[in-house]
Amino acid sequence: MNETRTNRVLLVEDNPKNLKLVRDVLVHFGFDVVEATSGEEGVRLAAETSPDLILMDLQLPGIDGAEALRRIRADDTIARMPVVAVTAFAMDHDRERALQSGFTGYVDKPISVRDLPQQVRDFIRLGAAS
Ligand code: MN
Repeated sequence: MNETRTNRVLLVEDNPKNLKLVRDVLVHFGFDVVEATSGEEGVRLAAETSPDLILMDLQLPGIDGAEALRRIRADDTIARMPVVAVTAFAMDHDRERALQSGFTGYVDKPISVRDLPQQVRDFIRLGAAS
């Protein structure tokens, strides 16, 4: 039997254009998408909607992506969720910082519409195996 449950992705992104782009791509490829536009809302929806993966923008109003991640990792009920940083700068030290902060991985902005669905599948598989 194949796994038929729809994979749910929580997007935490304050930029409406970026949010729409990523949402449209993931919905097109059959993902169930939940959206948050601040870090606080992201942490709350992580607990309320049990996503298989969180895609977390780093620069957000209120708490930033790293602080939102810290709060998720500090909550036993959601601590093990895979959380992937969306890094605004294609620079090695920003990627390195994301990994050191405890993110599961990163995807670079601008998002690659072509690559994103497979990247998301891979991160979800990684999370399910851990
Ligand atoms: Mn942002």
